[in-house]
Amino acid sequence: MFTAAATLCPTTATAQTDDFKYTDEQFADIQMLRYKVEGFEQLTLKEKTFIYYLSEAALQGRDILFDQNGRYNLRIRRMLETIYTDFSGDRNSEEFRALTTYLKRVWFSAGIHHHYGCEKFEPEFSADFFRAALKSVDASKLPLTPGQTVDALCDEVFPVIFDPAVMPMRVNQKDGDDLLLTSACNYYAPGITQQEAEKFYAERKPAGDPRPVMMGMNSRLVRDEFGNLSECVWRVGGLYGTAIERVVFYLEKARPFACTAEQQTVIDRLIEYYRTGDLRTFDNYCIHWLKDTESSVDFVNGFTESYGDPLGMKASWESLVNFKDVAATARAEKLSANAQWFEDNSPVDPRFKKEECKGVSAKVITAAILGGDLYPSTAIGINLPNSDWVRREFGSKSVTISNLTGAYAKAAQGSGMDKEFVIDNATRTLIATYGSACDDLHTDLHECLGHGSGRLLPGTDPDTLKAYGSTIEEARADLFGLYYVADPKLVELGLTPNLEAYKSQYYTYMMNGLMTQLVRIKPGFTIEEAHMRNRALIARWALEHGKKDNVVELVKRKGKTYVRINDYEALRTLFGKLLAEIQRIKSEGDYEAARNLVETYGVQVDAALHKEILTRYEKLNLSPYKGFINPVYTVTKDANGNITDVRIDYTEAYDAQMLRYSRDYNTLPDVN
Ligand code: ZN
Repeated sequence: MFTAAATLCPTTATAQTDDFKYTDEQFADIQMLRYKVEGFEQLTLKEKTFIYYLSEAALQGRDILFDQNGRYNLRIRRMLETIYTDFSGDRNSEEFRALTTYLKRVWFSAGIHHHYGCEKFEPEFSADFFRAALKSVDASKLPLTPGQTVDALCDEVFPVIFDPAVMPMRVNQKDGDDLLLTSACNYYAPGITQQEAEKFYAERKPAGDPRPVMMGMNSRLVRDEFGNLSECVWRVGGLYGTAIERVVFYLEKARPFACTAEQQTVIDRLIEYYRTGDLRTFDNYCIHWLKDTESSVDFVNGFTESYGDPLGMKASWESLVNFKDVAATARAEKLSANAQWFEDNSPVDPRFKKEECKGVSAKVITAAILGGDLYPSTAIGINLPNSDWVRREFGSKSVTISNLTGAYAKAAQGSGMDKEFVIDNATRTLIATYGSACDDLHTDLHECLGHGSGRLLPGTDPDTLKAYGSTIEEARADLFGLYYVADPKLVELGLTPNLEAYKSQYYTYMMNGLMTQLVRIKPGFTIEEAHMRNRALIARWALEHGKKDNVVELVKRKGKTYVRINDYEALRTLFGKLLAEIQRIKSEGDYEAARNLVETYGVQVDAALHKEILTRYEKLNLSPYKGFINPVYTVTKDANGNITDVRIDYTEAYDAQMLRYSRDYNTLPDVN
């Protein structure tokens, strides 16, 4: 599980003192940022070398994600890139510039659908222009199948790009639809229905296995020529094998430089899993990985999160390489050292609590490279592994990524969001004083404690909540954080300076959930993404249930809507109540209640309010989505090929980076 940056919190951190350039180009609804790898120079050569090889392993899986997001994505990317680099016509024409923007969006989303809203991009260049351009370049650079003409390629692929009715959504979550037939993601072969897929996995679920593997997470479900369903497993020698081999190659290079012998075992298990595709081995790898809390350098590498599958089963490929932010880790460690206290004192029914909180480890890290589904749009907090039984018996490892939250905060300075959307000066001051610190703390609470808290009742199938599972899980973790960020215990632990600070988080959370996150939704669309649904669910539920006591309200001032919180303590009580209910739903696997909550509070958009927010937001000229350009690592080697130095550089442009990645990490064929 991960925490996405709310990015709209009107953080007014202290003035930028260094001259690092955090913001880069803007296109469509995107702003590119850069993150600084603070402390890299102070690492040992061994650590730097380890990071270098792991970063290579992190970049080798890029093509996998493109293919997972849609079966035409690699071909479309390669067609666009060839025009971008080789087109000899007018590069200043509106058509060419529109194609450039489209390509930048395709790079950003690893496909033709929006990374967040999942809807297909509308190209603002014409099919005629694209076809003529494709016919004007060297055909050997185009993704043609043997014997295929450029026209035939266009005929095959153009409807996918230009016809709004073809593959309109990457992940469709609409209640009542066949979620597979209406989703463009490439986890199930075309024509396989939701019912067939659910039946396939239900039949294979071993009854009463207390330690079930996460079935289906590393494969595509396909139909053979006799109509029977089977899995194409992502492994060396299997589907995506050529990419996975390269990942393994660099993991092997990295292995000798691992921080500890235990970490070498982690890498060994991961390689074994990549070779076999065996999910039991994957669980073993996860257990070794989560137990390794000592290593200064750490990584995520593999098929991890299942947000891209409408059934929440198949995992997208991602990678992150990082090292410990020692000072900030002390903060998270205070939380995890007190995990049992937080569990015992939560407003949840004792039947759903963990009697013994195991191994909730927490640290704050500095990201060194982002890859796959964590690039360029990324998480600011990660809690893994996702397996319920592993979490129950062994705990989980939780991180917050300080140089990314720092970069967001720096980029938000002077954005004008707080001026436009926060109700008054007193609240703005509150947010300016405590906002940034409480944001980080909420993320820590969400990741270190929230996801790790609670337990399922014996016999509850962890997949019962189906399409609502992700939203409920994120709501659970967020509510845990909201409830406790206001607790006097945090003042006692020295994590918040006083009993006022949490109010900054309450205000920004409610404002985001009720209003400002809507800037990410196009007019007429509903909320789809799990983290956004969860924020809407919590904020609107609290608004509704606090109505009779006037706890929170939406007020109008000069025609503009604002959130006003009248009773912060009562709001905390409401968060506690909802936390108890959400935990009950999760623990009992109450699908109907989950569906009811999510559909009532988390999905629909108030059209009038939406329009108002979009109008106000537009005037600020900001991009609702942000992503990061990676730094570039270059190595110096001695005569024997040993690395003698690793240097870091932050100057590569977005397009140059993407083109380089497409060239150097070109690991998959056009059709997979
Ligand atoms: Zn989360």
